[in-house]
Amino acid sequence: MTRKKKEPNNYQLTNNCPECFAKGTLSLSFYPIVQKNVFFERHKAEVTHTMQCAQCKQQIYPVKWTDDIERVFEYYQKTVTPKAHLKLRLLSWVIIGLLVLLAVAILYYGAKVVA
Ligand SMILES: [Zn+2]
Repeated sequence: MTRKKKEPNNYQLTNNCPECFAKGTLSLSFYPIVQKNVFFERHKAEVTHTMQCAQCKQQIYPVKWTDDIERVFEYYQKTVTPKAHLKLRLLSWVIIGLLVLLAVAILYYGAKVVA
């Protein structure tokens, strides 16, 4: 099973970068968490995030965040609310189709034997 990040929700922040102090260079990205295997894709209700500065090209980790950045982060985090859902992949549908065919065949031939 692989954990995969899908397309992010990006926000450009007007806060100063805690590393280089440039203003308006921070971008915040929220990624939905998707677990994927051959049978299904499971989209979780949680998101992961990264914060990047376009000026100094560094990732800004939460320990470096100022109170302002934390407030803005919490605000944007509330706007990103993915819904948890499960999506079956082709192999699962093939197996379900074969099981349905098998059940129909058993019922058909079972009814024929009884009659
Ligand atoms: Zn910076």
